[in-house]
Amino acid sequence: MTNKYDVIVIGAGPAGYVAAIRCAQLGMKVACVDEWLDRDGKPVLGGTCLNAGCIPSKALLESSQLYARLQQDAKAHGIAVEGVSLDVSAMMASKDATVDDLTHGIAALFDTNAIEWIAGRGQLFPDRQVQVTLHTGEQQTLSAGHVILATGSVPVELAVAPLNGDTIVDSAGALNWQQVPQRLGIIGAGVIGLELGSVWRRLGAEVVLLEAQELFLPMADRQLAKSALNLFRKQGLDIRLGEHVKAATMTDAGVTIAHENDTDADTLTVDRLIVAVGRRPCSDGLAAAETELLLDEQGYIHVDEECCTSVPAVYAIGDAVRGPMLAHKGSEEGMAVAERIAGQPGEVNYDAIASVIYTHPEIAWVGKTEEALKQAGVEYRRGLFPFAASGRARAMQETAGEVKILSDALTDQVLGVHIMAAQASELIAQAVLALEFDASSEDIARTVFAHPTLSEAMHEAALAVDGRAIHMARSRRR
Ligand code: FAD
Ligand code: NAD
Repeated sequence: MTNKYDVIVIGAGPAGYVAAIRCAQLGMKVACVDEWLDRDGKPVLGGTCLNAGCIPSKALLESSQLYARLQQDAKAHGIAVEGVSLDVSAMMASKDATVDDLTHGIAALFDTNAIEWIAGRGQLFPDRQVQVTLHTGEQQTLSAGHVILATGSVPVELAVAPLNGDTIVDSAGALNWQQVPQRLGIIGAGVIGLELGSVWRRLGAEVVLLEAQELFLPMADRQLAKSALNLFRKQGLDIRLGEHVKAATMTDAGVTIAHENDTDADTLTVDRLIVAVGRRPCSDGLAAAETELLLDEQGYIHVDEECCTSVPAVYAIGDAVRGPMLAHKGSEEGMAVAERIAGQPGEVNYDAIASVIYTHPEIAWVGKTEEALKQAGVEYRRGLFPFAASGRARAMQETAGEVKILSDALTDQVLGVHIMAAQASELIAQAVLALEFDASSEDIARTVFAHPTLSEAMHEAALAVDGRAIHMARSRRR
């Protein structure tokens, strides 16, 4: 049989659409199958990231932060702002416009790269055949030399708190409310709980987060996580750790949540509840049984380091496979797989993938934490620099947070960088470059940074590894 396509990609999120574009750039004939429908029921590209994840959440974080700053911070800069009011519908419309611009932009990129966009649900069959069920119900069978599975992830649901699309919702629902709930409950104080909790808190909701674990943000640096917990609580996020939700039921008063910790059982009544307890890979029914596509026990598509699945010439990337569920990780895998298909040496450095939590201040890190280094028995040195000692941070009145650099005690190679700061998401890029280029803390210390910038804190933290930070009292230099 002649293959109609060189590559079929199933899924057009940041993993799949990037893979499709890179394959097309490399001269391949590409089709991309995706089933997402927008709020008007029209097919749309971009997957979770653009339609219900990274982009809409960051749009609301920006808008809500501007609202909070006008109310709380303008005065300290000598600006009197009166009559600040909120139009939630307009804020949502602005967020939707950003999403639409970006998803239409991907459709335009597909056009210019001659990628065929097929709107419907794809299923993998043997011999790299893909059966597509179009939104009309009609079916088509396509085939290709290579198939890339990029079907992403969906929110984990909790049997004790069933979603009802209105008062009990997942993250997608909480990005579309047209009114500020007076009392908001969130199950899970992970990345989504903190980001969406921050949005609605800034807009005026009373927010309670019920987190099952005793440890706050276990994946982050302990010291930063501890300071962040204090700061977020001061912002009014009522974060309760070690709380197990037993039931969430609709009552006359709202949503009543029964929860308990090691010592007490209690109830909490809220107007709206967000369930944000993680995401799971989207792989149910993706492959016909005879295809022998191997999944692990949690439903992740099994892949090797090169994203090859158990089926020859079938690859899988993004949230549907092992590794952090992050858009940039999926996109890099998409590019690497496209390059490998073209016979080039595509590669992803999994040791240098930054994580960011877009709260205020933001928390960002790359590489190892102190805890991980201790556990692995690695001897390290560390340099710390607080933003309170940064001229630019003072001018911005954004002095919360610090930079921490960890380097190998013997070779001085940078092993991890942890930042809490107003713009940690931007600052972390230089740390990613340092890890990518195997830099030493001395390399960073000998680099000339522009003054006055927040980035100078990175320079000072590198100097502090060797006890020679300039803008720090002698006693605090280590
Ligand atoms: P997805 O984006 O989930 O796309 C998969 C696509 O495949 C979807 O369009 C889906 O409809 C389609 N699909 C699935 N099965 C089929 C099928 N059988 N046939 C056809 N189509 C199919 N990550 C970050 O890096 N930064 C952030 O700031 C960030 N913020 C987030 C905020 C929220 C609220 C959420 C929920 C997530 C956030 N993420 C963020 C995570 C990020 O969205 C995901 O890591 C990323 O979208 C994964 O990309 P992907 O391409 O693997 O999958
Ligand atoms: P998460 O893993 O970050 O947090 C989920 C939290 O819920 C955890 O702290 C967990 O202990 C808690 N939890 C689990 N079951 C619970 C229960 N029954 N009761 C109370 N708490 C419970 O997951 P998330 O916040 O849902 O986000 C999913 C994924 O999406 C993340 O892993 C991340 O990769 C991605 N994401 C990334 C960003 C970003 O990069 N800024 C933003 C949002 C989402």
